[in-house]
Amino acid sequence: MVATPIGNLMDMTFRAVDVLRQADLIACEDTRVTGKLLKHFGIKTPMISYNDHNGPKIRPRLISDMQAGKSIAVVSDAGTPLISDPGFKLVSACADEGLKVVPIPGASAFLAGLVVSALPTDKVLFIGFLPSKQKARQDTLKPLVGIDATLVFYESGPRLATTLAALSLQLGERSATVARELTKLYEEVTRGTLSNLSESYEKAEQPKGELVIVVGPPTESDEMSPKDIDEALLEALKTMTVRDASATVAIHTRRTKRSIYARALELKATHSNDH
Ligand code: SAM
Repeated sequence: MVATPIGNLMDMTFRAVDVLRQADLIACEDTRVTGKLLKHFGIKTPMISYNDHNGPKIRPRLISDMQAGKSIAVVSDAGTPLISDPGFKLVSACADEGLKVVPIPGASAFLAGLVVSALPTDKVLFIGFLPSKQKARQDTLKPLVGIDATLVFYESGPRLATTLAALSLQLGERSATVARELTKLYEEVTRGTLSNLSESYEKAEQPKGELVIVVGPPTESDEMSPKDIDEALLEALKTMTVRDASATVAIHTRRTKRSIYARALELKATHSNDH
């Protein structure tokens, strides 16, 4: 399992070059993408495309090649294979067959984003990409609310604002960092809170490129003020029933569900009187 750079080719390790040269075959997501990397480092090893789509067909062939004594290097388009990329089923099949799997560590956006986030690194939970459908996203985020750990998400530029809004609504007010285009020319690290990052990216032009969102663990000082609670309730009431909205907001406060529910009813009444 060979890590490759996430942008800056200087991040290729000597060992990765060596292993890719020595391997009998390189299994990669996209032969055009990996072809460019191999050309840059003068590597002439043959490639085979291996991805989620053709995996069931190609995997048995890779396994039988390895059983016959061949060495197969697995790379993804960028970064570390298996980390929001193909490879898990292959490693799992190798383990079942008693075949040796060797890690060749290197770049991964997950760790690169985490180490510049200025958020706690003692307990970290990697989530990767959130589902794009609202209900599935809510279901993924719900169990994360009370977890005392820094959370790491992957996202792309066009979906950043929507994802930050969902994180802010579901996880409450927390410190967060957006790390964009890491190791590349336009590398950019923006730190703030979920709500102010969400607001500023909603207004800003859609950011280009790839990015990591790092969210700090819940802290005492993140407790919402009465004004924050009202704002969160009004936002949630736009799409949810009073019951769901108050349950969602109550998770982020140290107040009783009953008091938040009562406040949601009040707001709903005042709000409907406005119209
Ligand atoms: N396996 C890769 C790794 O180890 O980082 C991740 C592959 S995943 C399909 C692609 C996602 O990784 C992007 O949408 C983005 O969230 C993140 N990513 C990859 N390269 C990045 C970079 N240079 N800067 C910031 N995030 C990046």
